[in-house]
Amino acid sequence: MRRITIFGATGSIGQSTIDLIARRPDEFEVEALTGGHNIAQLAQDAKRLGAKLAVTAHEARLPELREALAGTGIETAAGQGALVEAADRPADWVMSAIVGAAGLAPGLKALERGASLALANKETLVCAGPLVLETARRSGAELLPVDSEHSAIYQALLGDDPATVERVIITASGGAFRDWPLEKMRKATPEQAATHPNWDMGLRITIDSASMFNKALELIEAKEFFGFTPDQLEVLIHRESLVHALIGHVDAGMIAHLGPADMRHAIGYALNWPERAELPLERLDLARIGSLSFEAPDPERFPALALAHRVMERGGLSGCALNAAKEVALDAFLAGRIGFMEMADVVTRVLDHIETDSGLIDAAFDLDNVLNMDQISRRYAEESISEVTRTGTV
Ligand code: NAD
Ligand code: MG
Repeated sequence: MRRITIFGATGSIGQSTIDLIARRPDEFEVEALTGGHNIAQLAQDAKRLGAKLAVTAHEARLPELREALAGTGIETAAGQGALVEAADRPADWVMSAIVGAAGLAPGLKALERGASLALANKETLVCAGPLVLETARRSGAELLPVDSEHSAIYQALLGDDPATVERVIITASGGAFRDWPLEKMRKATPEQAATHPNWDMGLRITIDSASMFNKALELIEAKEFFGFTPDQLEVLIHRESLVHALIGHVDAGMIAHLGPADMRHAIGYALNWPERAELPLERLDLARIGSLSFEAPDPERFPALALAHRVMERGGLSGCALNAAKEVALDAFLAGRIGFMEMADVVTRVLDHIETDSGLIDAAFDLDNVLNMDQISRRYAEESISEVTRTGTV
């Protein structure tokens, strides 16, 4: 029996993970499930899977969770501290599928304990790559990629000497606005940004796909996870979302990873690692699909990609600043306070600001410094948003 904990169990990745483990009840025992506001889903899954503990991120929702699980013997808890405590409980395999920088502290705690960490929460590596890798190295914990592109890279690299890798291409669907002109994108609404051509995901990552901030995070994630240099990393728009990544070698050969646009492939790969096992997914019918297309992204419409390169070149805690600024800018866009293209302006401003303080950016990679940079960047982002809303321009 393997003991499993799922952070962000009520979200899109969390529910896909539960779908896979619920099919194999004899193999897995659930230690803890965590969620946010969706108490009904959290309680229902905790009962169905026989979890020992259910945690909501929101303290005000604890009475509701207690009531929903009364008489079941399932422990309940709430708040950010309770999430970190849940990570300290004995699970062998932990899914990190909280959205945003809030996923960092529980993931680090699980790694400290030596658990295998399946990492959907890309923000963990974007904010604190060196700290995360060092924590895993010290405890001997395994870090397994779940982002589809990074799972694809991981699989495509198997058996090859990493020194023979020349280039790495991660693909992007292009999101909701891949064919929209810039002027139309400036006026895009949250509802328009919240649709995705190929993937069914949480709201925030769906909008990040439309702005390509998701791809920006993934570039930084790939650099941190695999140790590639910024000039080895490229992005191509691939509308079909079937090729997830390609590795180019020094002999000009390329290895591509293909799979259905269903996150249960990457989740299942991490769950079954180091083995491969049958997964209940649609098989690709390439004759029916017929053709695969690739195109270069337009840097003017997708400024997030250049911001990722800027952060990869600068290093230090600048990834944490980019992520925090992006999270605040996304909230402001969702609230109708700034326009779609202004999210990148806010992030640019925050990077301009923090780059003037090398002591801040190059502070040692520990959790306190990361959280400090996160807070400072959120404050700068708020200030630059207030400026936009006051003057109508960034
Ligand atoms: P989601 O919004 O569907 O779910 C997020 C989960 O995190 C929910 O359980 C929610 O309750 C919880 N949560 C939200 N804010 C929280 C907080 N402050 N503290 C604790 N818990 C909180 O998101 P998702 O689409 O499942 O994405 C989860 C993570 O996986 C993100 O980092 C995303 O970038 C990454 N990811 C998602 C996909 C996908 O297909 N959905 C693909 C690749 C990577
Ligand atoms: Mg991805």
